[in-house]
Formats: sequence, structure tokens, C-alpha cells
Amino acid sequence: MIPFKTCPVCNGEIIEKEVEKLLRGGENTASIMVKTEVCLHCGERLYSPEIIKKFDEIRLKLKSGDVKDFEPSGQFFRVAS
Ligand SMILES: [Zn+2]
Repeated sequence: MIPFKTCPVCNGEIIEKEVEKLLRGGENTASIMVKTEVCLHCGERLYSPEIIKKFDEIRLKLKSGDVKDFEPSGQFFRVAS
């Protein structure tokens, strides 16, 4: 299940954790909770190829406005700096 024993970036210890990932496609944004391996030292997230594929599918849907499967959640704001 775990593809890495230690972090490929810093060699730190890795644990499985549920994290929130924000995805953007076009003007749309979605968040998804995924279980992934996270480095305890540098915070690097080591997503599996399956999860990355899922992210890509979601980004495509967001970009094309095909969001009927997604649950509306709050509003997205852009803040001028
Ligand atoms: Zn690390």
C-alpha cells in the first residue's frame, strides 16, 4: 500500500493521513478529502497514481463546468492584494 518507506524529499518518516486537497479547473474549485502518505518532517504529500488520476478527472470536470456530481460547499472568494 505505501509506495515509499521514507520521504523521497527529505528522508523523513511517513504516515498515512486523511488530508484535504483543493483542486482548481477553470474558474471552479473543489475540495476533496483523501487518504495519503504524508511526511512527518517536511509535510510532503505522496499521492498514489490512482489518486492523481482522480484529481485530473475532477479538474477536467471543473474546467468543463460538469459539476452536477459535486456538492456545493460555501463560496469561493478572490481577495485583491
Ligand atoms: Zn519529507
